[in-house]
Formats: sequence, structure tokens, C-alpha cells
Amino acid sequence: MQAQQATEHVDMNGNPIEPGRYDLSLQLFHRAQQFIPGGVNSPVRAFGKVGGTPVFMAGAEGAVLQDMDGNQYVDYVGSWGPMILGHANKRVIQAIQKAAEHSTSFGAPTDLETCLADFIVTRHKAVEMVRLVNSGTEASMSALRLARGYTGKDRIVKCVGGYHGHADSLLVAAGSGLATQGVPDSLGVPKAVAELTTTVPYNDLEAVKEVFEKFDDIAAIIIEPVAGNMGCIPPVEGYLEGIRELCTFNEVVFIMDEVMTGFRLHEGSAQTRFDIEPDLSCFGKIIGGGMPLAAYAGKADIMNCVAPVGGVYQAGTLSGNPLAVSAGIEMLEQLTPNVYTKLEEMSAEIADGLSDILKQHNVTHAMNRVGSMFSIFFREGAPKNYEEVCASDSDKFRKFFHGMLEEGVYLPPSPYEACFISAVHAPELIRHTLQSAEKVAKTL
Ligand SMILES: *Cc1c(COP(=O)(O)O)cnc(C)c1O
Repeated sequence: MQAQQATEHVDMNGNPIEPGRYDLSLQLFHRAQQFIPGGVNSPVRAFGKVGGTPVFMAGAEGAVLQDMDGNQYVDYVGSWGPMILGHANKRVIQAIQKAAEHSTSFGAPTDLETCLADFIVTRHKAVEMVRLVNSGTEASMSALRLARGYTGKDRIVKCVGGYHGHADSLLVAAGSGLATQGVPDSLGVPKAVAELTTTVPYNDLEAVKEVFEKFDDIAAIIIEPVAGNMGCIPPVEGYLEGIRELCTFNEVVFIMDEVMTGFRLHEGSAQTRFDIEPDLSCFGKIIGGGMPLAAYAGKADIMNCVAPVGGVYQAGTLSGNPLAVSAGIEMLEQLTPNVYTKLEEMSAEIADGLSDILKQHNVTHAMNRVGSMFSIFFREGAPKNYEEVCASDSDKFRKFFHGMLEEGVYLPPSPYEACFISAVHAPELIRHTLQSAEKVAKTL
């Protein structure tokens, strides 16, 4: 690839930026903006909420990223979740290479798909059957259609700030990417569709109860068991249990969106960690080992409503792609209980360490952490829902983010995202992270 020579360094708002450390990224972003809307293929990557220019990546190994200018970073994004074993995991790479030699796609069934489905079923009490798709968006969109087809009802309930991909029905009060753009909704979503989506604040069981009493046309409620797209917010005690009870009583399908939390918070996902059995589950991110792969899954009586057995249509030319499935199997096989024990310890060390440093420098903040997901909120007290997340100091976040980036620590470029830790964040990388935070905290 030939980088185009940029005559002027500008950020996404057209403001000039001093050349230096990010020279090549600046040039590449300039070029990307000519051919790709906003220069990115997913909005959060554009650094809209933190300002400045996105860093263009050249490669990564383990928990270390390298950008096109040769700068290295300790990675706390992990491709937004999948890289729980770090980048370029040897077994995953080998599995992809081996699969590719036998063709990149057949459009016909392979036994690999059954192996992956079997693996997911074995790890989850509430899952008997699995349908593989290509993205989290497809998984939640399909789960909704299935819930509607199964119940014969049209309304869905979701949380304010809950993100479940960009299907029309779900682009109502959806978190991170949209909040990052400062637009609560999307143009192009028909009003008639959006009207069938009712939103409730996260962690408010009373609100769910009220909505369930008010509407008799509710097909499903879709929930992130630990919210991760408004920063990391754990469920309050009794919240998920309460939703389970209300769904059973009102015959509403309980969809647990585990695209982020699946295989992240436990070898049997958040539903096993919290011991809750949803009717349908969505998986993504980790299950593809960094390849485009996701799934929706659940009890056989619901799943058998999907075509070709049932009347709910859903299909995909590349679904169950052999490269993606091979990567996924190799990833999941390595995720033993030991990995989660180790992740829990390392994550506590990082999150507690960061929080202590901020405290020492009198920086008002709250640290939310569940397993290897955490978020720092620059506000007093831990937020429990999206509204409280929004009452954080976004200026301080921006300074913290850029300070850490300069020091070689790559945090998610938005206060509405969770940080992820991998099993290969070595002690010296954790030390580097905390030393960097020490320097940056002084400037806040
Ligand atoms: C990332 C995410 C999605 C969307 O997945 P894509 O693969 O980006 O379409 C859906 N739900 C949750 C909870 C997610 O974190």
C-alpha cells in the first residue's frame, strides 16, 4: 500500500495537528476519509468522542499493538472483546491457515459447524441448539425475529444505552457508538418500526414490571447481562433474576445478549456466572476468535421455529464459514476455567491499581469491573444506568485517554466503552500501564 503524501495534518474536524509521533496515521486517515465515510468502517474507531486522529494499526502480538508509525501500545481494546487470549494466538492462526488450504467457503454444511455448536451447547445449561451467523448484529436481529415468530407478538423491550447491533428495531436509545456520535437515534429507522421498541433504564426492575403490565404485545426483552456498551455496568442484585421471573410469568422471551460477555466472564458466559437461564442467547466476538462469527441459541422448542424446520426465515451465504468456525473452536478449547481464574486476578490488579493511582491524585472517579471487563467513570459514585454514565466528566476522559495513548497504552476511544484484559497481559505490561497512569494522573 502506498501512503498518500498529505500536505496538511488535520483531525476529523479539519483542525490542524502538529506532525510528529502519529505522522503516518495522520496521512493514512486523510486518505481513508476520501474513500470511506469518516475514514472508518465502524464509527467508534474515528475517535469522535476523544478528538484527534485514529491510530492506524500495522500488527499485534499478544497484548501489544503496533501502529503504522512504529509506536507500540498495551492493548485494552482487544478488538472490542474477541482477543481474550491476545493477538495472533498461535493455535487460532494455525487453525485458520489449515482451514484455508481446504477452501475459504463451501456454502454447504461442514462438521466443523456442528463441533462449534456442540461446544456452545455443552457450556450453557440454557442452550440446546445453535444457529451460526456472521456478526453480533445479525445474531440479535435474528433472535428478535425468532422471538416475534415464536410468540406471535411484535413489541420488544430494551434498555436505554443497551447496544445490540444496528438492526432497525434495536437502534432506539442504543449506547456507545451512537452516544459517541452524540445522536440518540439513527436516521433511516422507520417510525413505525421504532414505535414497537419500548425502552427502560438498565437496572430498574420496577420499570420492566410496569412495561410488562402496560403492553400485552411484548414478544421479548433483550438485555446485556453485564452492560458493556455504556461502559461496564454490573447488574444490581436481583435484577436478572427478576427479569427471568417476569418473563416466565408474562410469557415474554428473555433474550440475553452475550455478544460481549459470552466466554468473557466465565467459561459458560455470564448466564452461568450469575446462574440465570435465558430463553435465547446471542454470542459473538470471542466465539469467532477475531473472525466474523456470531450465533443465536436457545432451547430446542424455540430454535426449531427457524427455517428450514420452522417458519422464521434466516439465512447467510457465508454463515458457518470454515475459517471463522475453525478459529472459534480453537479459541474456545483454550478457554479453560484456569484462564478465568488468572484473568480475574490480573484484572483486579490492573483495575485496583488504576483506581488507587487516581485516588492518590485526588481525581474523582468510579471504577466498575466484572471479570476482565472494566470502565473508569470520571464521576462521583459508580453509575447504575446510562443516564448516570452520561453525568461523567468527558473532558477528563479525553485527557486521560490521550495521555495514556502518548505513554503507549491503548484504551477504548470513548467513555461509553469497556476496557478488556487478555490472559497474556504480562506483569511488565501491567507495570507499564500503572506507571503511565501515574504520569497522566498528575496532569488531570
Ligand atoms: C458488539 C456487540 C453487538 C454487535 O456485534 P457486531 O458483531 O458488532 O455486529 C451486539 N451486542 C452486544 C452486547 C455487543 O457488545
